[in-house]
Amino acid sequence: MVTLTEDPGIAGMETEPSLLPQEEMGSISREGLRQLTELVPLAGNEGPPLQVISPGTGAMLAEYPHGTPATVSKAVRRARRAQSEWAETNLVEREAVLMRYHDLILAHREEILDLIQLETGKARKSAFEEVADVALVSRYYGLNAERHLGPHQRKGALPGLTSTWEHHRPKGVVGFISPWNYPLSMAITDALPALVAGNGAVLKPDQQTPFTALWALQLLHRAGLPYDLFQIVTGKGSELGTPLIDQVDYVAFTGSTKTGRIVARQAAERLIGCSLELGGKNPMIVLADADLESAVEGAIRGCFANAGQLCISIERLYIAESVFERFTQRLAARVSRMTLGSQLDFEADMGSLVSPAQLDKVEAHVLDAVTKGAKVLAGGRARPDIGPYFFEPTVLQGVTEEMEICSEETFGPVVSVSPFDSVEEAIERANDSRYGLNAAVWTSDAEVGREVAARIEAGTVNVNEAYAATWGSIDAPMGGFKESGLGRRHGAEGLLKYTEAQTISVQRGMPIASPAGVGEKDFSELMTGALRLLRWIPGLR
Ligand code: NAD
Repeated sequence: MVTLTEDPGIAGMETEPSLLPQEEMGSISREGLRQLTELVPLAGNEGPPLQVISPGTGAMLAEYPHGTPATVSKAVRRARRAQSEWAETNLVEREAVLMRYHDLILAHREEILDLIQLETGKARKSAFEEVADVALVSRYYGLNAERHLGPHQRKGALPGLTSTWEHHRPKGVVGFISPWNYPLSMAITDALPALVAGNGAVLKPDQQTPFTALWALQLLHRAGLPYDLFQIVTGKGSELGTPLIDQVDYVAFTGSTKTGRIVARQAAERLIGCSLELGGKNPMIVLADADLESAVEGAIRGCFANAGQLCISIERLYIAESVFERFTQRLAARVSRMTLGSQLDFEADMGSLVSPAQLDKVEAHVLDAVTKGAKVLAGGRARPDIGPYFFEPTVLQGVTEEMEICSEETFGPVVSVSPFDSVEEAIERANDSRYGLNAAVWTSDAEVGREVAARIEAGTVNVNEAYAATWGSIDAPMGGFKESGLGRRHGAEGLLKYTEAQTISVQRGMPIASPAGVGEKDFSELMTGALRLLRWIPGLR
């Protein structure tokens, strides 16, 4: 097995990997990948190229530019120049770019599915979630940006005399730092609302998945986005993160809680805003009245989508004692039948982990749990016979507090099952975490489901679904409580965070001061009477 340097990715491999044969690359050509790298602005002092290793096979997919702080400066300058003109364009025109992008992404889905799979090793159905997500977000902001951005008329200081509007102006250039796990969704869906709001953008994708981001940018150009407005810099987060945050007007970060803290500190130093979409240790509660068949299928989707490398995936299952045996038996049997593979078709249920670092972490969590007494109900082993970083979908019983897996995010295909006696206990255990990203409740009574959901400390809670119901509801905010993040994506919040709110008031008739000839004392009496009256006029409250 290869060993990597501290920054996962490829630069530190001990032996030269073989080149992935063209016949295993589906619709993706190596020349096409080379052309994508031409979208990266170069400052002339880039380091030796970095490589993407395709996790499904361990072979090298392609090389790409190793950006430096100078590359970042060049990218921000270009985006800033293009932004002032873009902000002047009609909002309807900007929305139209998103609607064309919606159509293009669906039309070119086979190509991007191939590329996502080659860069991440995931199963094709997990890659398709990304395509659907980009289409949903493009459509939502393509049709609703104007409604959120306004300008909206607000109640004025003096009714009839003060007219007030709320405007939203773009921040300027927004910096994005994104992870490898959903490389299309995470690179693009947060940028779309920023762009439609009139901003420029500079994205630093994870170093494992630069080509998916570049492909997505190329398609945005085809949808009509001005060429320089959205820049991508490729390289290591530890080298490019600081210069990026130092030069942009807002930063939207998605990744681990550990890196999120570094980003937040740097943003605070510059007094710029930031949103942080971070880690999770997400619980799912199965109540005694739940449809068990549906709950088992939901758990499979929730725990093993993208081989568990999903911030909102389920890692803790709490099952009502009365149905615990039946549920876990069915779950274990169903998990044991899951198929593994990363071939470019829809056959496999689950794909590979993304890197040796991910495999090491998953193996370490399972080993620690088993050594301390946890029982493996299904899976539990790496599968080098399928590919270098494959690990079986795994169900553990008897996880206790002294095991790392109990509270630390595994970010892999491993879930623990525990029984509970009462709903109170289930809620308490679900909330016993420093994270608060996503949760699920399974019950045949939707009202009970909503009541339980409202008591869970998580930014999204799904009733009778694992994560897709809230995630796909783009009109509603999505993000984390506690150490799972700051700020929200989706909905009005996911758009307005990229803007400065500006209030404009026009005063007419009389000033908000004592009119000529009226003394301050009389004015204060007049105002007191008027304020008392206003309290009772329904339309003015
Ligand atoms: P990571 O924090 O290591 O990397 C994320 C990004 O940050 C990458 O682009 C990386 O290059 C960059 N980076 C690394 N060091 C940096 C630094 N010092 N300054 C600035 N940027 C830096 O995260 P990861 O381990 O690659 O991703 C998995 C994590 O992301 C998990 O914890 C997962 O839960 C989380 N995640 C959260 C969401 C969400 O929406 N809440 C979505 C996807 C992933």
